[in-house]
Amino acid sequence: MRTEQGTLQCEVVVNCAGMWARQVGQWAGVSVPLHAAEHFYIVSEPIAGVHAGLPTLRDPGGYTYYREEVGAILAGFFEPVAKPWGMNGIPANFEFTRLPEDWAHLDPVFDVMARRMPVLGTAGIHTFFNGPESFTPDDAYHLGEAPEVKNFYVAAGFNSIGIQSSGGAGKVLAEWIVNGHAPLDLWDVDLRRNQPFQNNARYLQDRTVEGLGLLYDMHWPFKQFKTARNVRRSSLHDRLAAAGACFGSVAGWERPNWYAPAGVEPEYKYSYGRQNWFAYSAAEHRAVRENVGLFDQSSFSKFLMQGRDALAVLNRVCGNQIDVPVGVVVYTQLLNARGGIEADVTVNRLDAERFLILDAAALQNRTGPWLQRQIQTAEFATLTDVTSAYTMLGVMGPQARALLSQVTSADLSNAAFPFATSREIEVGYAMVRATRLTYVGELGWELLAPTEFALGVYEALLEAGRAFDLKLAGFHALNSLRQEKGYRHWGHDIGDEDTPLEAGLGFAVKLNKPAFNGRERLLAQQAAGVTRRLVQFALEDPAPLLYHNEPIWRDGEMVGHITSAMYGHTVGAAVGMGYVRHSEPVTAAFIDAGRYEIEVATQRVPARACLQSFYDPRSLRVTERAG
Ligand SMILES: Cc1cc2nc3c(=O)[nH]c(=O)nc-3n(C[C@H](O)[C@H](O)[C@H](O)COP(=O)(O)OP(=O)(O)OC[C@H]3O[C@@H](n4cnc5c(N)ncnc54)[C@H](O)[C@@H]3O)c2cc1C
Repeated sequence: MRTEQGTLQCEVVVNCAGMWARQVGQWAGVSVPLHAAEHFYIVSEPIAGVHAGLPTLRDPGGYTYYREEVGAILAGFFEPVAKPWGMNGIPANFEFTRLPEDWAHLDPVFDVMARRMPVLGTAGIHTFFNGPESFTPDDAYHLGEAPEVKNFYVAAGFNSIGIQSSGGAGKVLAEWIVNGHAPLDLWDVDLRRNQPFQNNARYLQDRTVEGLGLLYDMHWPFKQFKTARNVRRSSLHDRLAAAGACFGSVAGWERPNWYAPAGVEPEYKYSYGRQNWFAYSAAEHRAVRENVGLFDQSSFSKFLMQGRDALAVLNRVCGNQIDVPVGVVVYTQLLNARGGIEADVTVNRLDAERFLILDAAALQNRTGPWLQRQIQTAEFATLTDVTSAYTMLGVMGPQARALLSQVTSADLSNAAFPFATSREIEVGYAMVRATRLTYVGELGWELLAPTEFALGVYEALLEAGRAFDLKLAGFHALNSLRQEKGYRHWGHDIGDEDTPLEAGLGFAVKLNKPAFNGRERLLAQQAAGVTRRLVQFALEDPAPLLYHNEPIWRDGEMVGHITSAMYGHTVGAAVGMGYVRHSEPVTAAFIDAGRYEIEVATQRVPARACLQSFYDPRSLRVTERAG
């Protein structure tokens, strides 16, 4: 690195430049999406009776916190509409400088403050402090190694909790650097969760208006950001919006979460109970189980690995066998040296040296760079991110074959087009890659249409779908369907510290394959047994809802927590999954022998535990549907 005082060489760089971190990152081509906002507090004149032993008070509804400050009260604000600052870059010499007072901006929160702590209405204000602090697009800080540059680490974007977070953040980052991986699951704050577009200055400025206040806002289930929306839109977006889609945002993508019927506003009404969309999503769920539904899954990340050594690279990082006939699709985990799951993907062998890899939307900036780094210098293979090249449609449900047969002449019979195979077929005027896979546990095909052909494919499907009562289905239904089927979700149920054996994915690992990442650890685990195991749960009571993080009790002892959950409309109760821990190996007999409860808002609700899925445990509907 070249500085005013000469050139510095170092093995590891940590960009911990606070609100300057975005600019410093840009020097190295590293994206650190954050933006400064003005951040305010006041200190009153001394108040009789105020002493150092007073507790800190937070009033989330009033967007204010209060604490003692040398015999006076300090009140700090997280107002719902914030003031972004430093739009043209942060001056290099700004440190410890104060920004001007802005009484008008704080008027609404001042009113609440004077009601909550009336003494502040008369005590007089000694200090009005306004200083900038940096905020990130999702209010979580940025930690870890940059996907763009090896050994370039970031610790920034502390969203006004940087002092309280500093001890832990420093500790885990130090371990991350020394060991080359995070010491625990830190996906929530991992720099790689961000997408490159999020470094866009206008996006950051617009989102920062909302970010500050969110720290004190109600964190409703399914809550969506209001600002900086409509960033990434599928080529079908306007059609889906016209059909009543209520969109949620993931990695900048607008994704239909549920569809409002005619006459209903596609808007969330948040609560901790059944939200306004519950019944609409249930109908989408049922359509997929009993008939046929159509999902826009364009947001899925898509990578093309090709070249003479592509197979060797993939077989080294995948737990499953990738050397399969052309046209076969392999469900597999990408593994690290510890046997941990770096990604949960499908690998589609397009020909001898070309493989199409599909992953979740949020992992585009993680899986792509990670895979890229697995290609060794002497190996001849390239990785290309082809996410934007294809629109992806999921045609799912028992009538999927009958419907698709109306728009293609391809033989879709079970014999000609078995589960986990893929080939190019004609749909309407387009050539589409059809893959017989499912994330919902039904007969179905995932269709990848080159983006400019997607509208034609969609129109053909919708027109033919009329005779089948085809229903558009959203991601809330997808989540409900996959939960019942026990399909895992990376980032919730599995991550880089969980092995496939712990996650119940041993079926997707070929331990008899020659050397591959993590094989030794997995062999050792297989011999010794695992002391934590992902288990499916269904509440016995159909009323309560599950989200995630609910404690799991086994025979009165807390043994884990729910990693993800959703209401299972076919099961007829909330379903979720979570790891059960034990000092001895967690076997099927151990799981069966326990009495389980899931704690929902302090109430323990009896639950069924199962190592298989609650719905169609033998996957007959997926693999053996005659036709
Ligand atoms: C009004 C206000 C109240 C707050 N209250 C609290 C609170 O109660 N509790 C809490 O936990 N947090 C609070 N915070 C937030 C907290 O102060 C920050 O989160 C924290 O200071 C961020 O630490 P940092 O190390 O990431 O960045 P900083 O503290 O900003 O440090 C970054 C450093 O990088 C240096 N730097 C920048 N560019 C370069 C360069 N090119 N070369 C060399 N050095 C460079 C800067 O000079 C600076 O010293 C508050 C913030 C504000 C503004």
